[in-house]
Amino acid sequence: MGHAPRIAIIGAGMGGLVAYSALRQRGIDSHIFEQAPHFLRLGAGIQMSPNAMRVLRSLGLEERVKATAFRPGSWKNRTWDTGAMQFELPLGDAASARYGADYLLMHRGDLHEALVSIVPDEAISLDRRVVGIETRSDGVEITFQDGTRTSADIVVGADGVHSRVRETLLGPEKPDYTGRVAYRATFPVERLSMEIDECTKWWGEDRHIVIYLTTAARDEVYFVTSLPEPDWTLESWSAKGDVDVLRSAFASFHPQVRDVLRACPEVNKWAIVDRKPLPHWQDGRMVILGDAAHPMTPYMAQGAAMAMEDGVMLARCIAETPDDVAGALARFEATRQARAARVQAGSHANTWMRERTDPDWCYGYDVLNAPIASGDRA
Ligand code: FAD
Repeated sequence: MGHAPRIAIIGAGMGGLVAYSALRQRGIDSHIFEQAPHFLRLGAGIQMSPNAMRVLRSLGLEERVKATAFRPGSWKNRTWDTGAMQFELPLGDAASARYGADYLLMHRGDLHEALVSIVPDEAISLDRRVVGIETRSDGVEITFQDGTRTSADIVVGADGVHSRVRETLLGPEKPDYTGRVAYRATFPVERLSMEIDECTKWWGEDRHIVIYLTTAARDEVYFVTSLPEPDWTLESWSAKGDVDVLRSAFASFHPQVRDVLRACPEVNKWAIVDRKPLPHWQDGRMVILGDAAHPMTPYMAQGAAMAMEDGVMLARCIAETPDDVAGALARFEATRQARAARVQAGSHANTWMRERTDPDWCYGYDVLNAPIASGDRA
């Protein structure tokens, strides 16, 4: 293989976009193939914890994001009906001082747009759905739904929870359905009839709802729920839910929750899935990252953050030994697996912040400077 490997990134989500830009910063070209014909602005909020903000800073996007995102003073955890405070994590200046980076809440579309803005148009091919990947002695052959093909030295599967690259590496296997669904919506704050908290998780016995503001102007609110519904298995960003069913599911919750759900014009609904840690993320030619490698429930708000950390770590590993791609991918896997598995397990348990929680191991992590593990299998 020559000095610069040809790298095909499959998927232009948070992980794929960060991987591209982090590689480019290190002088390594790659190309992104995305199945969507154009990018949609999905109505959802996203939390960018300090570990994710460090990634955005490294890509020169911190100021852009800070200009539009909401910077909460704390993350409250309250009992569903009485509103009793179970645990309040100080954020704002306290988070910045402790971690050297902000904790921000924002619209998912703003984050995606920021990440897309630093990728040149010619580096992304849209409407290119990967349907087949074949490993050869001299590289990898990728086939698209339209029948066209391309070849590369490395394939990076940043193609989300239903990853085709994961399936090629490890065989077909559906992610685990948790038996729970989530409703979500973003809408203007002016629809509310009362003042609400900036950022609160309302903990019920078998369900919860997270509500927060997503803009610096404090004019948009987002909520996301989790509640049991064993028969609903549609895992889609665009499926609609019934807002009246949602309201009755939270009818006995605190007045703030009820006001948010009353004011909400429409909702999306999807099945919550995750996966147990996978044995391998790579085979020397193909590698998976983000939700493709470690899909998790949204309960720690770390899925995108982990995908972004993966993107940077992959770039660091490849830049270290561009002539030894197999070694780089092995080091990437060895470095990232334990942390991703810990976050997957924590997310699955849904206990994060329910009571006093020390988040330092998660938010304090610095993927730009974290040590890279040896890829040698013992
Ligand atoms: P994705 O964002 O899923 O991107 C995958 C991309 O690959 C997509 O663009 C897709 O179109 C493309 N693709 C798929 N298959 C193919 C193919 N065959 N060929 C070509 N392209 C393909 N994370 C946080 O950090 N903070 C939060 O607050 C947070 N809140 C969340 C709330 C909810 C309700 C959910 C569901 C998730 C939340 N997450 C959050 C998690 C986060 O959204 C995901 O973990 C993150 O989007 C994963 O990024 P990714 O790049 O791995 O995959």
